[in-house]
Amino acid sequence: MTANSRRSFLVNSAALAATPLLADSVFAQAPGRKLGVAVCGLGSLATNQIAPALTKTRNCRLAGIVTGTPEKAEKWQKQYGIPAKSTYTYDTMHQMAKNKDIDIVYVVTPNALHLPHVQAAAAAGKHVFCEKPLEINTERAQGILDACKKAGVMLGVGYRLQFEANNQECVRLAKEKVLGDVKIIDANFGFAMGDPTQWRLKRDLAGGGALMDVGIYCLQTTRMLTGEDPMWISATEVKTDTVKFREVDETISWTMKFPSGVISNCVSTYAANGLAGFRAATTRGWFGLDPAYFYNGNRGRRSDGTEINIPVADQFATELEDFADCVLTKRQTKASGEMGLSDVKYLMAVYDSIKKGRPVTL
Ligand code: NDP
Repeated sequence: MTANSRRSFLVNSAALAATPLLADSVFAQAPGRKLGVAVCGLGSLATNQIAPALTKTRNCRLAGIVTGTPEKAEKWQKQYGIPAKSTYTYDTMHQMAKNKDIDIVYVVTPNALHLPHVQAAAAAGKHVFCEKPLEINTERAQGILDACKKAGVMLGVGYRLQFEANNQECVRLAKEKVLGDVKIIDANFGFAMGDPTQWRLKRDLAGGGALMDVGIYCLQTTRMLTGEDPMWISATEVKTDTVKFREVDETISWTMKFPSGVISNCVSTYAANGLAGFRAATTRGWFGLDPAYFYNGNRGRRSDGTEINIPVADQFATELEDFADCVLTKRQTKASGEMGLSDVKYLMAVYDSIKKGRPVTL
């Protein structure tokens, strides 16, 4: 399927999103039933991480798929026993409203398709778990929150590190001031981008480059460790390959100030491997993780010699179990839509600072 024909699917789906939903049944559950999750967009993350994770979750299971690629539909149906009645294309998603086996839609499509896919899922009365970044600008991210609010469904964002034990141990160290007050945070994430044809390099689908894709993890680190929102951002951009990165950012370095006086320095890049960690300098030492952002094996150290190396089973299973539990108990997830929206706002401020050539105050 071409990008254009996918787009026309999306236009249709967005129009259908206006359909009113029927929904006292949104939270209704048969006791003991695992919540059904439909994965929307069967790409790399869905195939290699999310579907395997859903075979391990205690309170939810893979129950449906949404795809624009018929061959993938056939493969997933066979591999995971998904019935034809729970298999959708982007333009038939609205029919999920009638499917009681599906409670949650996990949107794993390119960034700029999150809005129409969330709108379609929410309008069908399904709770939504949406990958990061929530969308490509604040207006569209707000549209996601509005769609879920209007439909009365829950919204969670795929911030797996909010549930990853090593990252959360660092949050504890910061909060409890185990090594004193956090003063300075360095956080960096990047990889050397391969395939020059992929959507991550197209502005209309990705919204931006490495900043939107991996810089968001560094932003999350600073917000998790400080428990605060940045109040001032100053950024600069470097582009060494103007052909590959014609439409999106290659490398951005940005500084943020937080109300308590913490300062953070972050780098996101599509130009180099080897950056995937953070270090927090504190009044009595330091702590950090390297790697901090991988799917497995995140670990680190503290200045007092203590290792930070907590075994983690599966980050995707953990975040999905938490969201399913939120749906079952009507609890607000800590990886909320509001957090996703504010992250997009701060990423936009990074771009704004580059464009203006000066710091921006938030
Ligand atoms: P992929 O390119 O591997 O997969 C995206 C899938 O979206 C495609 O395979 C396709 O599935 C579907 N799609 C629908 N329309 C289009 C279109 N116009 N162009 C391309 N694909 C389309 O991307 P990823 O799986 O790597 O990323 C998907 C989302 O997940 C992104 O938002 C990304 O930021 C996020 N992500 C999050 C990670 C995390 O750790 N939390 C890690 C990696 C990605 P189909 O053929 O079924 O229609």
